Amino acid sequence: MRKKQYRLDRTHLNSLLKLLEQEGYQTYGPVRGEHAMEWAPVGDVESLPEGWTAVQGKAHYRLEHRGDHSLFNYSAGPESLKKFLHPPRVRLLKAERTNGAFHILEDKPVMVKRAFLGVKPCDVAAVAALDRVLLNDRYPDDVYQANRAGLFLIAVHCTECAETCFCASSKSGPQARTGFDIALHERPSGSSPEYFAESGSAAGAAVLEKTGAPAAPSEWARELADACALAAGAQQRHVDFAAAPAVVERNFDSPRWDDIARRCLACGNCTQACPTCFCVNFEEHSSLDRMTAERHRVWDSCFTQNFTYIHGGSVRLSTKSRYRHWLGHKLARWQQQFGSPGCVGCGRCITWCPAGIDITAEFESLKAGVPAVI
Ligand code: SF4
Ligand code: SF4
Repeated sequence: MRKKQYRLDRTHLNSLLKLLEQEGYQTYGPVRGEHAMEWAPVGDVESLPEGWTAVQGKAHYRLEHRGDHSLFNYSAGPESLKKFLHPPRVRLLKAERTNGAFHILEDKPVMVKRAFLGVKPCDVAAVAALDRVLLNDRYPDDVYQANRAGLFLIAVHCTECAETCFCASSKSGPQARTGFDIALHERPSGSSPEYFAESGSAAGAAVLEKTGAPAAPSEWARELADACALAAGAQQRHVDFAAAPAVVERNFDSPRWDDIARRCLACGNCTQACPTCFCVNFEEHSSLDRMTAERHRVWDSCFTQNFTYIHGGSVRLSTKSRYRHWLGHKLARWQQQFGSPGCVGCGRCITWCPAGIDITAEFESLKAGVPAVI
């Protein structure tokens, strides 16, 4: 049966947020931070960055006013949903010495209901990629599981992409196809954009119906598909994911890796900004009075020397070997390991690399056998 499609205005969007709040969700949306779009709790659409966009390029991100009334016309910002689902720091346990005895207090993850309005299609796909690793593999992660259980996603299709986007290559955008509860298409309409809404889950269908929004005109679905196809066609960056495993394999000894290593600072920014990088380390702290100790799980990066430390030293000592590992995992080996790419084409690693290293350009050079410039 064809899903019901709705025509929403701002009042309906506000009702949607209120209905979700009544169902116990903390409602989040994109807001204009000092220098970038950020996720923050929002109670109404008046808190969203009306008329603002983000211009992105290699090592470049600037907020600019568009002079219109759009609420969602910008590509993925520095923050993804990873920080909510797989937080940067989690206390796993606390040990206490009381009355001469030693007690372990284990922190059990608690489910939090969070609804996100304005999730980009690449970030919806990134949640699916994290699900595959942290939820649906042999050893589900209980912290991720608890955060994921309470997640409600309101995606917004992208009809304008940043210069850094390549989600059309990874088939994760610009139109969201699956993995959301509700998907919206923002349609410019003078001072008050309208929204074409479809549900992707039973929960999404139920809450949409409660907004009282009228049915959408039948031609809006076609107009959405056309607008997204146009946006996909305008993307300037591409990765041939089908060829990636063979390209990475045959270029293991390419001098191109040395060339990248001369530019790469091994800062790990790309891994922290990446919505699918999930590697962690563990830290133990004790109080100076030796009465308490805590174990924390923290984000790590395969660009740090200690990441591959085992007895006797680190496996990947050079920046060259770490970049090669990272690019190979994101574009190729993740496909072999999990059946789909570990990259959703969001472009964050290009925008937020201080050295302006572009994973798509490096991959293209490897694929084409372009000689290294060293
Ligand atoms: S590798 Fe880069 S483009 Fe791909 S998902 Fe990660 S940050 Fe986004
Ligand atoms: S590729 Fe860029 S962001 Fe990643 S570690 Fe190297 S310098 Fe840092």
